[in-house]
Amino acid sequence: MAEKRDYYEVLGVSKNATKEEIKDAYRKLAMQYHPDRNKSPDAEEKFKEISEAYAVLSDDEKRQQYDTLGHAGFDQRYSPEDIFRGADFESIFRDLGFGFGGFGDLFRSIFGGGFGGGFGERINRGQDIVYDLEITLKEAATGTEKEIEVPRTEKCEVCGGSGAAPGTSPTTCPRCNGAGKIRQMRRSSFATFVQVTPCPRCGGKGVLIDSPCKNCHGTGLVKKRRKISVKIPVGIDEGYQLRLRGEGEAAPNGGEPGDLYVLVHILPDKLFTREGDDLWHVLVIGYPQAALGAEVTVPTLDGPTTVKIHPGTQAGEVIRLKGKGMPRFRGYGKGDLLLRVAISVPEKLTPRQRALLEQLAEEFNQDVKNKKSRFGL
Ligand SMILES: [Zn+2]
Ligand SMILES: [Zn+2]
Repeated sequence: MAEKRDYYEVLGVSKNATKEEIKDAYRKLAMQYHPDRNKSPDAEEKFKEISEAYAVLSDDEKRQQYDTLGHAGFDQRYSPEDIFRGADFESIFRDLGFGFGGFGDLFRSIFGGGFGGGFGERINRGQDIVYDLEITLKEAATGTEKEIEVPRTEKCEVCGGSGAAPGTSPTTCPRCNGAGKIRQMRRSSFATFVQVTPCPRCGGKGVLIDSPCKNCHGTGLVKKRRKISVKIPVGIDEGYQLRLRGEGEAAPNGGEPGDLYVLVHILPDKLFTREGDDLWHVLVIGYPQAALGAEVTVPTLDGPTTVKIHPGTQAGEVIRLKGKGMPRFRGYGKGDLLLRVAISVPEKLTPRQRALLEQLAEEFNQDVKNKKSRFGL
């Protein structure tokens, strides 16, 4: 195995970084290397490395030990399991929007089968589901209710989730006495520690099923496509997550179901670009309108309205319509609508328009290239 890199170096923080700085650094890196998000082959290795560094540096005692002993000494004292025990990854992943119900599973899949003792309580919870939902800007402005169809596992209705055929019941596994876990002592050259693995006889269930339920083949779970209604609050913005508690995957062996996170995406709008609570719109007017002033119709979220263009308006000028933007998310009032003026230049001209423009150019003493008609040639 390659030599381990310094934990501070791994997270890119200084030796005297505060807890907040360490957390921030890990959060950023986790976002980048989380295996759910980053499919490159070395992402998992990298994620493992940063998670280990975070587990140690976020814990005062472990950090102090690491500072004193260095990598080699620290590794002699702490098993991989010890390193991760008690570290709070959950709140970070929740903030980042990753599922954390399957947290133990994630770490087990990354760190290998021996891992998991420290997360025993978490294992029996269903996985969270993240559902990407696209809505229009108008829907975000008014709020709406959307029905989504989520593929998920649910408790089998035939056996009530036990996995045993109706009229029969599961029996306690004699190998693990119903615990579902087997504890084994493991020795390394430096230390002995207890390793907890799922019971091979019952597969971690703690029970044996003699006559499995036919509907779920003894798993107690079935795949369903469930229609769920989601309320979209007024003013919601891109990337916001709505949490629907208990609407995630069902848990095996009667555990608590995970949560459903609806990740909101706002489709690009033809008329408006959003910037926080403000909306931008490009207002195209003609050169005469800009020069002479005009009254023009502009779109807003509540329908068309008229605005005055003052004489001498320049391209790029911004006209602000107060309170015509997006409603504030979980607040009061609305942002503004900002009209950025653009001046249209005709691509095709009628002979009369050409003649008039040429006269105008002459009047302004502006040189134009094609002066042929002016001289009647
Ligand atoms: Zn069943
Ligand atoms: Zn067992």
